[in-house]
Amino acid sequence: MSLIPKWENIVETKKCRISGQDFFVTDKDLEFYEKISPIFSWKKYTIPTPTLSPEERQRRRLAFRNERKFYYRKCDKTGNQMISIYSPDKQYLVYDQKVWWSDDWSPLDYGVKFDFEKPFFDQFHSLQLSVPRVNLFAKNCENSEFTNHTDHIKNSYLCIDTADSENICYSKWVISCKNCIDCYQIEKCQFCYECQFCKNTYGSSFCFLCDDSSESLFSYRLQNCKNCMFCTHLRGKQYCIFNEQLTKSEYEKKRKTLEIQNNKQMRKIKDIFHNFKEKSIVEHLIIDQSENAFGDFISHSKNAFNCFEILGWENVKYCFEDLAIKDSYDTYESWFECEQQYECHASNRVKFSSFCSLGYDNSFLLYTELCNNSNHCFGCIGLRKKEHCIFNTSYSTKEYESLVGKIIGHMKNTDEWWEFFPHKFSPFGYNETVAEEYFPMVEEEVKSKWWNWKSDEETSSYHGAYYEPLNIDQYDEKIVGYEKAQKNIDELLGWILKCEVTLKPFKVIKQEIIVYIENHIPIPTNHPDQRHKERWDQRNHRTLNEWICSECREKIITTYPPERKEKIVCEDCYKKLIY
Ligand SMILES: [Zn+2]
Repeated sequence: MSLIPKWENIVETKKCRISGQDFFVTDKDLEFYEKISPIFSWKKYTIPTPTLSPEERQRRRLAFRNERKFYYRKCDKTGNQMISIYSPDKQYLVYDQKVWWSDDWSPLDYGVKFDFEKPFFDQFHSLQLSVPRVNLFAKNCENSEFTNHTDHIKNSYLCIDTADSENICYSKWVISCKNCIDCYQIEKCQFCYECQFCKNTYGSSFCFLCDDSSESLFSYRLQNCKNCMFCTHLRGKQYCIFNEQLTKSEYEKKRKTLEIQNNKQMRKIKDIFHNFKEKSIVEHLIIDQSENAFGDFISHSKNAFNCFEILGWENVKYCFEDLAIKDSYDTYESWFECEQQYECHASNRVKFSSFCSLGYDNSFLLYTELCNNSNHCFGCIGLRKKEHCIFNTSYSTKEYESLVGKIIGHMKNTDEWWEFFPHKFSPFGYNETVAEEYFPMVEEEVKSKWWNWKSDEETSSYHGAYYEPLNIDQYDEKIVGYEKAQKNIDELLGWILKCEVTLKPFKVIKQEIIVYIENHIPIPTNHPDQRHKERWDQRNHRTLNEWICSECREKIITTYPPERKEKIVCEDCYKKLIY
């Protein structure tokens, strides 16, 4: 559902070029497109209204983002084995990140002159095939080899979208956290396990939307609580179970009985909490400390429309998973002091730029990939600290302005101006990217659209025996003695486990075993990808549905699908019931 804010007027109804669905352009949209249209040699090159619906525009950007599919391949510069998001069969040159960020090569060596006889995107694709790409997008990371889209992290493993954090494993979207495992979207948390959408939370497990809380388990929407289990919507409470107040000794006694030894017991406990939560009320949308905001999981934002999972935004539309961004439309994962972006993906600290994929610290870029610390560039790949470049060729300011104007004129004739890079030029198969999570499609459907598909993705070369994890007590020297515990831990570390759901082989690492033993958490029996999927499945999708408030019967918009059992209420009713 694409709803229009009441302070905007529809000026045009368009049909999406891919889905055929109608979508609307408003007066505010026209103002935005006018504002971000670039100027070259004193002439404004207007960005026309989109030809794709907001949903298809999002899908197109997401198809350029492989977050978590890692492969072994050789660095094309040194020949050394490395981990990469590009599988070995991909035709690109891929360099290890140390080499890629060094001065051992120059992106300008791959520069070409623009050919006005050929379409822009075909020429851009030739450049994609010649300019080296970086194996992983991780900056300033220490001892954190298997991580992607990470910045300033330490001693972490299999993390995505993680910044300013240390000792993080198997998690996504983590900011300023320490010692957390299997979490998704957490900020300033420590010692958390299987937590989602939590902020300033400490020593907690299986918590969802819990802020400023500690030592809690299996809880939903707690604020400023401590020592709570199986609780929902509590504020400033301690020693509660199933929302009932107990004394400290009663609580501690019951807490001790919750000894989960293995995953069979864990599944039962999860079901108990799931059934309890289903009887609870839920807010139709999660919007905190925001003004004129419309979407889900929005906080500290103003004038944010049709946006999801955002923090600190102003005047934005169709933006997703961003942090501190203003005056922008159609972005995905743009973080930190971003401004005036349109159709950008993973562009951190990037301003006044459109149609860019992956880059840090840029301004005034158009149609670039993997460019960093650069300004005023057009159709470039892999630049660092460069200005006035076109197709990786350097020009004077005057030449740059004149040539870009001519190329835009050419792109208008070929219907390429104002469009993000087409799907078929994504370096990844659709099923390797985040697009697959949000818009799943089968192989035949993807191929029928002439988009890429990675066909041998699921094959595993392991055909040996598998290890069955023991009860967690068996790894705890306090319970079974040092020698036996050590023997069991060594076995666990040396063997391969089989995912109970996908049958994919996986391993556990020492860093996580220590946490499981200390917190009495059973050894996982699912592959990290399956655990991520299960967390993802707990979240509402980015689809807005019309519904009725369970209390006042007024019309509401929600991301809860109609089949969900929770009592969905409007903001006013939620406040009346909870506070
Ligand atoms: Zn209501």
